[in-house]
Amino acid sequence: MSVENGLLALAGFDPATLSRDFRTRLHPLVEAADERGPLLEECCGAYNHRLLRFCTMLTVERSKVSSQCSACRESMDVEIFVTKLLETRAGDRNAEVSVGASIFRLPRMADLGAIESGPDAEPIILQLARICRIRGLEPIGEDLVDALSSAFDTADPAAAIKLDHACTQCGHRALVSVQVELLVANAATQASTRLLQDIDAIASAYGWSEPQIMTLPPERRGRYVEIITARIGAR
Ligand SMILES: [Zn+2]
Repeated sequence: MSVENGLLALAGFDPATLSRDFRTRLHPLVEAADERGPLLEECCGAYNHRLLRFCTMLTVERSKVSSQCSACRESMDVEIFVTKLLETRAGDRNAEVSVGASIFRLPRMADLGAIESGPDAEPIILQLARICRIRGLEPIGEDLVDALSSAFDTADPAAAIKLDHACTQCGHRALVSVQVELLVANAATQASTRLLQDIDAIASAYGWSEPQIMTLPPERRGRYVEIITARIGAR
């Protein structure tokens, strides 16, 4: 599947829901674009990095997240630069961390998919401990839970990317969490809409079908759109 055909398949989906259907369409797109294998086998930080690099491939360099100042309660839009987010180091999927007498590998995206939720489910970190343990037999007790969480965080900081931000009203500094999947979903949806608009412009001007227009190299398609736009502007 080409990246562009994948983008077309996103048309009509609401990125904000991050539904399973949406991810099922988004993941093959990223995998086709960077050719680095299945996304779900990545540890969480490397997954975030691949999504962010995909953003830059779509020429989306910046975005915004809404947040609220914890000191003065002012709502604010925090501007985000994708390259800045990529400065947060991603872990190695084969890295090992040791806690107590046990060795663990880093949680991967597929592991998160296997986590059980619901009122009777075990805490997530205990489920991850069971899934990710490589060596060591001692049960992970409550006393080691915090140590394991922070060992995972230290080994894979990009799993949860946070930005240091100062409130524009009161100057209070705080860390703002960045939802990378949502950022990328929005970028991909915008790219999908731009592509549809280009197809619409060319189809309206020349009467060509969508499949015919999609066989044009992107640069030539862009040139046609420029010509059409110039002609409309000249009228
Ligand atoms: Zn404030």
